Amino acid sequence: METKKQDVRIGFYVCHCGHNIASMVDCPAVAKYAEKLPGVVLSRDYKYMCSDPGQELIAQDIREHKLNRVVVASCSPLLHEHTFRGATEKGGLNPFYFHMVNIREHNSWVHTDREEATAKAKDLTRAAVERVAHHRALEVKKVPIHPDVLVVGGGIAGIHAAMTLAKAGKKVYLVEREPSIGGHMAKFDKTFPTLDCAACILTPKMSEVGAHKNITLWTYSDVIKMDGYVGNYTVTVKRKPRYINEDLCTGCQECISSCVFKEPKFADEFNENLGKRKPVYIPFPQATPQVVLIDPDVCLNFKRGVLTDKCKKTCVEACGEKKAIDFKQTEKLEEIKVGTIIVATGFKTFEAERIPQYGYGRYPNVYTALEIERLVNASGPTAGDVVMRNGQHPKSIGIIHCVGSRDKKTNRWCSRVCCMYSMKLAHLLKEHTEAEIYNFYIDMRTPGKGYEEFYDKLLTEGVHFVRGRVGEVTDWAFTPEEEGKLVIRVEDTLAGYVRRIPVDMVVLSTGLEPHTDSQDVRRLFNMSCGSEGFFLERHPKLAPVNTFTDGIYLAGCCQGPKDIPDTVAQAGAAAAEAMVLIDKGFVEQEPNTAFILETECSGCKSCIPLCPYSAITFVEERKTATINEALCKGCGTCVGACPSGSIVQNLFEDEEIFSEIEGVLVQ
Ligand code: SF4
Ligand code: SF4
Ligand code: SF4
Repeated sequence: METKKQDVRIGFYVCHCGHNIASMVDCPAVAKYAEKLPGVVLSRDYKYMCSDPGQELIAQDIREHKLNRVVVASCSPLLHEHTFRGATEKGGLNPFYFHMVNIREHNSWVHTDREEATAKAKDLTRAAVERVAHHRALEVKKVPIHPDVLVVGGGIAGIHAAMTLAKAGKKVYLVEREPSIGGHMAKFDKTFPTLDCAACILTPKMSEVGAHKNITLWTYSDVIKMDGYVGNYTVTVKRKPRYINEDLCTGCQECISSCVFKEPKFADEFNENLGKRKPVYIPFPQATPQVVLIDPDVCLNFKRGVLTDKCKKTCVEACGEKKAIDFKQTEKLEEIKVGTIIVATGFKTFEAERIPQYGYGRYPNVYTALEIERLVNASGPTAGDVVMRNGQHPKSIGIIHCVGSRDKKTNRWCSRVCCMYSMKLAHLLKEHTEAEIYNFYIDMRTPGKGYEEFYDKLLTEGVHFVRGRVGEVTDWAFTPEEEGKLVIRVEDTLAGYVRRIPVDMVVLSTGLEPHTDSQDVRRLFNMSCGSEGFFLERHPKLAPVNTFTDGIYLAGCCQGPKDIPDTVAQAGAAAAEAMVLIDKGFVEQEPNTAFILETECSGCKSCIPLCPYSAITFVEERKTATINEALCKGCGTCVGACPSGSIVQNLFEDEEIFSEIEGVLVQ
């Protein structure tokens, strides 16, 4: 039942927030001022309104003084609106008869004049008191949560999140765009600082994912559409054709050995194009799933005329009774329902060509760090033999840190892992080649557990460290010892002069960047990006794995550069957040949604394309628009845009807003 304006009984509370507010706002004066405002029957100031006694005070006052409205002037509603709504409800009132005034972030923290800040607090108080009189009782709706989870991305973050959920009995869809899960970690030889074999710690997890009954693994697949809302997402996944029936392929690889191409001939992406593969291939020995795929761009069977004739389909013959090869396979769309989604789409490495003065692509013996990971790897293209493109073994190697990181011209951010992986590669290259190794660094950043100790260890291994940003890498020899070498020119900032260091091989420690399609992924899942393009967490400290879209979480480097331990920890946190929702079984929906007064709507459809959450549709039979309240986030865009004023938003009704404005303006 609506309360008539003359019947409102408002309780007003102003919080000192310790010294946060009280040092700049005269809280007792604000409380005294509020006492005289229309409808206010009780006004108090208190040191910490959010404390248990503060909340109890509100609940008790509601009962004792028969309050029917509550206003608290304190901090941001983002932090404590929920707390005070709870206290209001505890006192027996509908929680939406409460209103909050922010006199901390909007006042005490941003002003320097106590008198003016106090006057502003009084203005804001007057506005809130005017507004709250028009509040209506609203109801929080409960929406059920679908218990299945989608994990997008099968790197170490996606693998860990999927396994955590699966072990807890949740059904998980793990979708990976590459033909195998494993991500970047599957390409590494060892991991820092412990120098564990990356494959030895990763592949058991990959196999577990592949075999787990609660995990549906779709590799070589892309999420192309997402509809719905928290707890009830409908997701469309495009499964690209491998030209192999996954259910029939045993991974025997007979087809690979029998292919008409007797020798591998085509660029092997997994080995950073340092090796070759055949048209039918498995990305790497421990790939999960252990299923081959055919590259239609190079397989002769997909060519025309004489080329096709050259292919005798020996692979089909070799596969025999298993009949796993299917050249007619086409793209397939799968639609799934899930309640929550974990986005773990990872990163891409900085393209070294973008810094031409380092010579990548111009000098054959300049490598990226990821290429070196494959070169030192026993399962890499040279079986761990560090042989350069010119066929020789390097006797001296320069490792340049921060390539594409901490640089205004490329990326400003620190990629967090380059110092450590550069030192790891220095150790491995020393072990494999016994070469003289030089590390060129700007600052040495080793903030993880055991990282500084690893740096100390490297110092004892005879690796040289030169502090300074490298100016250029050239093949211009000024002295006989520079002849035939790559010369690294650097200003040694510790020695205080410019040095020229001749080496056989240069390794560029490229930084981490958002994927090229990160904006598409962001749009797909209604997420936000920071200015650098990594997906934005809801709060860097208090909600680091949540996004601004409820039920969608982040894990791993798609949120920002991080090392493997931090990635795994974050993936576990994202899985835990998803489980909180699933196990609760429902989500409470804020009632600040919009609705359309159908009798007023002219059917102009102006509102439909404006809604950022696609919550508005048109009902042909009635020729009016309608809002799905489960999708509406209460942004208010449509309310302001409707030319006939037919859209109303709960908690932001005209009377509420106009009275608030009037309250601020009219003293
Ligand atoms: Fe073996 Fe056939 Fe699979 Fe090739 S396609 S790996 S021959 S089962
Ligand atoms: Fe109806 Fe207003 Fe939407 Fe036009 S903008 S369709 S009048 S609700
Ligand atoms: Fe969409 Fe915002 Fe209108 Fe809700 S208030 S229907 S989210 S435009």
